Amino acid sequence: MKKILNNLLTFFNTGDDDSFYYVRIERNDKCYCNSGKKYKACHYPDHQKKSKLAVKKISETTGEESIKIISVKRLRKEYYRVKSDVH
Ligand SMILES: [Zn+2]
Repeated sequence: MKKILNNLLTFFNTGDDDSFYYVRIERNDKCYCNSGKKYKACHYPDHQKKSKLAVKKISETTGEESIKIISVKRLRKEYYRVKSDVH
């Protein structure tokens, strides 16, 4: 389903490489660092101290995912990019 969606998005995409969205890593999700711990028990406290959050940055054209640690302030500014993860 995700693949079809991505293909559709590619179809409608006019070729700017700025088309991506963020999926927040929730506190109860596994941490992105593969420690096996939950985010809230791993990197979250440190990020919270720095007013940062871990997000998955997902390209709408290729579906490529990368982990970004971005500031809460920036995330608020780019709120329109934040989508909830569809399982
Ligand atoms: Zn971690």
